[in-house]
Amino acid sequence: VGTIKVNDVSKIYPNGTIGLDHINLDIQSGEFVVIVGLSGAGKSTLLRAINRLHDVSEGEILLDGVDITKAKGKELRQQRRNIAMIFQNFNLVKRATVARNVLAGRVGYYSTFRSTFGLFSKEDKEKAAANLDRVNMLDKYYTRADELSGGQQQRVAIARSMMQSPNIVLADEPIASLDPKTTKMVMDDLQHLNDMGMTVVVNLHSVELAMAYATRIVGLRGGKLVYDKPIAEVNADD
Ligand code: ADP
Ligand code: ADP
Repeated sequence: VGTIKVNDVSKIYPNGTIGLDHINLDIQSGEFVVIVGLSGAGKSTLLRAINRLHDVSEGEILLDGVDITKAKGKELRQQRRNIAMIFQNFNLVKRATVARNVLAGRVGYYSTFRSTFGLFSKEDKEKAAANLDRVNMLDKYYTRADELSGGQQQRVAIARSMMQSPNIVLADEPIASLDPKTTKMVMDDLQHLNDMGMTVVVNLHSVELAMAYATRIVGLRGGKLVYDKPIAEVNADD
């Protein structure tokens, strides 16, 4: 579980901009794929398509063999539950506690905070605590999200994304606003999830970071896939 197969996917935005141009990509369970490319290359468009945060214009995206581009209703919700999405700006509810932000992952982003704190089960709270412990943030359980540094917020977002026990983790420029030290912590957290067996796909600007963490590097340019190599075959002048 945790495979992603992108078959001939194109995305043309309503204003005519080409986001993705006939992309083919076959990701196996347990890979740590880093997608690199300049701003505007299509990285974010691709991750958003894999999670069906938007529709594609053409092609299909099979997650463990099931096409998420055509899924609807309950089936789509089930597929999304298998996917953790981590964003550049963390997307935490700033005035809520760390615990409450993490517990929100239990019900999915779309219904965030409809339920009150007391409605979460003991089991959910234990799971939230375990996920926070994994990213070394358990001591901040009762701290308000807006009192945390950027790196700490991103680690809370990672803990939140783990609440549904996903098989796939998608991270869109997760370290774009972080300093080098917290960048390492967040990338190490993603590495840790990969070690636990999750398929990880991360969009990054930095080729150095990609080299340090990826098992495979994919390059996009102008919406096209222009590079795709396992890390062992990557060489410095590529
Ligand atoms: P990256 O993540 O690599 O920076 P994006 O996927 O955000 O690239 O963008 C790919 C292309 O699609 C760019 O030309 C960008 O301007 C365009 N684009 C992204 N989002 C939209 C949108 N909502 N409407 C129109 N064009 C968009
Ligand atoms: P969806 O298609 O799923 O509704 P979009 O891809 O349109 O979502 O929106 C993604 C974000 O990109 C939005 O915040 C949007 O404002 C922004 N955006 C809009 N136009 C562009 C563009 N030309 N280049 C980059 N980003 C854009």
